[in-house]
Amino acid sequence: MSAQIIKEWSAIHQFPAATQEKLVDLLAKLKNQDVNTLTILVLGKCGVGKSSTVNSIIGERVVTVSAFQSETPRPVMVSRTRAGFTLNIIDTPGLVEGGYVSDQVLEIIKSFLGRFLMNKTIDVLLYVDRLDAYRVDNLDKQIVKAITDSFGKEIWHKAMVVLTHAQLSPPDALSYEEFFSRRSESLLKCVRQGARISKKDVQKFAIPVALVENSGRCNKNEFDEKIIPSGTPWIPNLVQVITDVALNGEKGILVDKKLIEGPNANDRGKIYIPLILAIQYFFVIKPIQKSIKDDVAREAKPSWA
Ligand code: GDP
Ligand code: MG
Repeated sequence: MSAQIIKEWSAIHQFPAATQEKLVDLLAKLKNQDVNTLTILVLGKCGVGKSSTVNSIIGERVVTVSAFQSETPRPVMVSRTRAGFTLNIIDTPGLVEGGYVSDQVLEIIKSFLGRFLMNKTIDVLLYVDRLDAYRVDNLDKQIVKAITDSFGKEIWHKAMVVLTHAQLSPPDALSYEEFFSRRSESLLKCVRQGARISKKDVQKFAIPVALVENSGRCNKNEFDEKIIPSGTPWIPNLVQVITDVALNGEKGILVDKKLIEGPNANDRGKIYIPLILAIQYFFVIKPIQKSIKDDVAREAKPSWA
């Protein structure tokens, strides 16, 4: 099973020296905090650049990238070790099929997690979308809602938004920074709505955003590092934000039977049982008792009375 083979992370040496240095520092930071394994779940719509981003992080073409919808909708886990540290990244099929959120894809993802990560944690969620999209719609909200229903609201404590296609020239007279902040704000607002994060909890669920440019034509700096238009080398920046989320003090999402199977359908109604009993008592049993009493009282009287 490909998901169980853990290879040495040798492709890290493919990165320019400056990037390698930063990545090694970040891995050391994680190890210092006793984090020896980091498991990242990648979710999002089809074609937004999930697989490309996985390849960019690993530094090697490990998962299939396609300009058209992938034909085999199954998750893939890529595992790499380096100096006693293990990185697991789970690439997944897009969550939308035929214009709707696919519950089937979510079930496939969950059973995959149950198979390969039972009793382990998901440490970081990468919610991927494109920077060069101009609006969010109800479908985006539905995707976030489906993720929240499947993994619990807590997953957003461990989440970050990744915006691909970051090398763009904003339309009209907008500056890059302005375009980025508008796009990320509208997407974050959509995430908060879909995850039912209330205004007062916004701080508690501060979801960071990182920019990504997977294209081979990505600009580079003098150290040969791929940069986004602001000049930031985006690979070390992305791994930095991943590290921040991993170390943000919130618990990872435990993959257990409850998560995989969802709340037991038979148990779902149980909380209402006392209420139903109470309603029965006041609206059914009480009136019956009363009418029996009335009947008895009537019967007790002599029939001629
Ligand atoms: P997935 O369906 O979310 O896994 O998306 P893929 O990674 O397969 O990418 C879909 C298409 O978008 C492919 O043709 C990629 O080459 C392209 N793509 C992905 N990320 C980027 C990016 O950051 N910039 C550009 N220009 N193209 C990208
Ligand atoms: Mg893909």
